[in-house]
Amino acid sequence: MKKILPALALGPIMAISLQAAENKNFDYHADQFADIEVLRYEVPEFNSLSLQQKKMLYYLSQAAQAGRDIIWDQNCRYNLQLRPVLEAIYTGYDGPADSADWKAFQQYMKQVWFGNGIHHHYSNDKFTPAFSADFFKAQMAKLPADVFSTDEGQSIDELKALLEKVVFDPAFLAKKVSQDGSQDVILASATNLYDGNVTQAEVEDYYARLKDPADETPISYGLNARVAKVDGKVVEQVYHLNGLYGPAIAKIIYWLDMAKSVAENDAQREYITKLIDYYITGDLRTFDEYSILWAEDTKSDVDFVNGFIESYGDPLGMTGSWEAYVNFRNREASARTEAISGNAQWFEDHSPINPAYRKPEVKGVSAKVITASFLGGDAFPSTAIGINLPNANWIRAAHGSKSVTLENITEAYAMASIGNGFNEEFVIDAPTSKLLDDYLYITDMLHTDLHECLGHASGRLAPGVDQDALKENGATLEEARADLFALYYLPDAKLQEIGVLDNPDAYKAEYYKYMLNGLMTQLNRIELGKDVEEAHMRNRQLIAKWVLEHGKKDKVVELVKRGGKTYVKINDYKKMRDLLGQLLAEIQRIKSEGDYKAGNDLVQKYAVKIDPKLHKEVLDRYATLNIPPYRGFVNPVYNVITDDNGEITDITLDYTESYPDQMLRLSRDFSTLR
Ligand code: ZN
Repeated sequence: MKKILPALALGPIMAISLQAAENKNFDYHADQFADIEVLRYEVPEFNSLSLQQKKMLYYLSQAAQAGRDIIWDQNCRYNLQLRPVLEAIYTGYDGPADSADWKAFQQYMKQVWFGNGIHHHYSNDKFTPAFSADFFKAQMAKLPADVFSTDEGQSIDELKALLEKVVFDPAFLAKKVSQDGSQDVILASATNLYDGNVTQAEVEDYYARLKDPADETPISYGLNARVAKVDGKVVEQVYHLNGLYGPAIAKIIYWLDMAKSVAENDAQREYITKLIDYYITGDLRTFDEYSILWAEDTKSDVDFVNGFIESYGDPLGMTGSWEAYVNFRNREASARTEAISGNAQWFEDHSPINPAYRKPEVKGVSAKVITASFLGGDAFPSTAIGINLPNANWIRAAHGSKSVTLENITEAYAMASIGNGFNEEFVIDAPTSKLLDDYLYITDMLHTDLHECLGHASGRLAPGVDQDALKENGATLEEARADLFALYYLPDAKLQEIGVLDNPDAYKAEYYKYMLNGLMTQLNRIELGKDVEEAHMRNRQLIAKWVLEHGKKDKVVELVKRGGKTYVKINDYKKMRDLLGQLLAEIQRIKSEGDYKAGNDLVQKYAVKIDPKLHKEVLDRYATLNIPPYRGFVNPVYNVITDDNGEITDITLDYTESYPDQMLRLSRDFSTLR
């Protein structure tokens, strides 16, 4: 539950502290198609790492690629049967280059790569192909038999017919993750975390029986398992070496073992050993032991996440999507997050919530700024800009959590946005634009730091409250809580006192962007007529609309018309902060008391519905700008240089690989499950 996704592509938010950018001519743009832009990120300081550290990053990058097929299979059960067919068509096509079908097919291929399957990574909707079924059938007819990975008892013709349905039938597997509480959210979701037979009621009943409400250190039930119905009985198919995804997990273990051989210290060796044990056994107690060791290792510079972690892909929020992050500490920028985490107790004690729900003792919130050096699984190509782990509440309370900000990723977003015309189109006036130019970069970073490092870590539940009590609204309300904590503190004089901000008005840049994004510009990510679905987007709209409505009487924030266009106008930033504090108190109360009804009322009233007129206006205005609403990344290629004996003497990074080449290489080198 604890990651922060980038808000919408914004305008030139430079001015401040883009310290890295080693190479002025670095080409951030890799590809663009449909609603997606693929960027490159630079890995500053890689060349100044020790050979041992470079080796470790390399081995971990291999482990990050080894699990790629897992996320494809988790996302939908047909993804790994479809991918080789699409890729064989893509590489073998010999028809006219200007054919409309072929162009549409290329776009579809790129979309499927980006989604790690047939669904959009963010909206969860199935991609709509713009090429014809006849084109697809004719291309499939040319492919050799070994491209078709049939199931037992399935003929190639049956598989072809099935794939045609998978690609072209809009009602079949329409949504990867459904959050529509009026339906059976499991049966309404195309995700392969459930086998398609088991119902929501059966799954809830299955886990309710396993859970002991008195257990103060519960395992993360269902985190590493597919739930199926076999012979009328609900069973877990656990992901581990000798279970589901075993062949991919074997490769991951191999590379983790290599990484262990060059670990920086004993603490790191110990947690890698635990992680390997967990991958071997699938035992979630071992995973908790690993998580504790990992959270407590704050000394190592090289660090990584590799496993079944975030549960956004599960309609019930239990099973973790497989993901990988490889990174190393950015020492200079970490001074900022250390200043924040070092004052964690102060922030907790001054939080505008019911004191009963404050944490009396904030434990070990460690925070650092990192340089991402490889992204994998669910974190690739679309990635987070901040992560806070582990997710288990009791581990966070007893052993602390690690919070990281991925600065080189944020920087790549910013650099790629220079001169895109966003501010000119959407920001109300020149002084506000100037404010954003001057302070949005740093306040956005601080927002991420505060959200991850303090927001998610703050507060506590009333005794006996189930941490899953908010059900399908849990993720939205948790993200809202963390955002509100960050927003509430951005104007606080404490930030100047601890030296992370130099201007008491800087926060206004983030406030303006937040309202603009939540009320208007994020709608660019949604098709006309649809609701807001994704948890972070729901949270942002919830906060922005709630503030707009509750500040109406005092005209704190308004939507105004100028020249026929709608703009966000903030009249009273101080009162806006008060409102944010009030909403924080209420959402903390909802979480602490497990008040499902109040939480659901808030979400339904503010987070879901969209004014169709405003929506259309935003889409039209965006259309003039050519700013894709979603962005992600290709990884650098690790070049391993060896001597005559095969010993590694150096590792360098190459940033020139194209998006299609990278995706085809991954399928060639890391197809582990089909
Ligand atoms: Zn978050």
